[in-house]
Amino acid sequence: MASNSKRLIGKVSVITASSDGIGFAIAKRFLQEGSKVVISSRKQQNVDSAVEKLHQVAEENQLPASNVMGMVCHVGKQDHRENLIEQTVNKFGGLDILVSNAAVSPTFGNIFDVDEKAFDKILDTNVQSGFLLCKQAIPHLKKSGNGSILFVSSIGAYMPMPGIGAYCVSKTALLGLTKTMAAELAQFNIRVNCLAPGLIKTKFSDPLLDNSDVRDQYLNVIPMRRVGDPDEMGGPAVFLCSDDASYVTGETLVAAGGINSRL
Ligand code: NAP
Repeated sequence: MASNSKRLIGKVSVITASSDGIGFAIAKRFLQEGSKVVISSRKQQNVDSAVEKLHQVAEENQLPASNVMGMVCHVGKQDHRENLIEQTVNKFGGLDILVSNAAVSPTFGNIFDVDEKAFDKILDTNVQSGFLLCKQAIPHLKKSGNGSILFVSSIGAYMPMPGIGAYCVSKTALLGLTKTMAAELAQFNIRVNCLAPGLIKTKFSDPLLDNSDVRDQYLNVIPMRRVGDPDEMGGPAVFLCSDDASYVTGETLVAAGGINSRL
């Protein structure tokens, strides 16, 4: 899934929750496309090992290792969010692309068994933290003159998935946030789009895929009859954040092996 194109040359991109899984795959593809990338997650050791892997990718693509920066950022913490944007601008001189990818799903079961604390955590991490990070980034995206924001939602935004109803509600909220922010930010030439992955093989989906009944239930609704690979999210993310999508804003691209997606 490597790319020979260089659609993000000269860009500076911040990707949250990117030491593993879909966020890492997006960061890797952005790097290959020429962007300087800032990756982050909660744990320093995960960030360090992801940076090391990206240095290898840079070397394979004859890019400088200095195109990669890693730092700790728990998206739920205001000082971490501020630091992420500040350090990025200090190192790379600006910011062009923000990918808001972090999410949690701390419960599994009937939505009516989700207590207030868990519901708050889901909405706080999956929706509000991304929104607040965008507010932090917007002054710099305005300066960029060609800024782009990408929210990572889920196919669960369109259909309630068994066991993770509250998470799905938070992902539906991101579709609305994308539309609202896109309308507000168009005047600054900042585009806001959203990617809705289907079932992708990561640590996040392991608990679902480990249970063969649940796994079969999911596979039955995927016309392509397979789960996706995180690397398959890189291309759609690059498209939405690059000039290839210069007249696309407020939209959600579903990359879910053909699962029906309609609200
Ligand atoms: P993953 O493989 O479990 O990766 C999670 C990443 O997020 C790790 O780098 C983790 O590192 C970091 N992280 C977790 N909580 C964080 C927080 N509060 N702040 C900052 N970083 C945090 O997950 P994934 O499957 O790639 O999911 C990424 C996104 O795709 C999520 O928004 C998810 O909802 C969405 N998605 C996933 C699937 C799927 O099937 N996998 C399907 C649809 C949508 P640390 O532990 O170091 O923080």
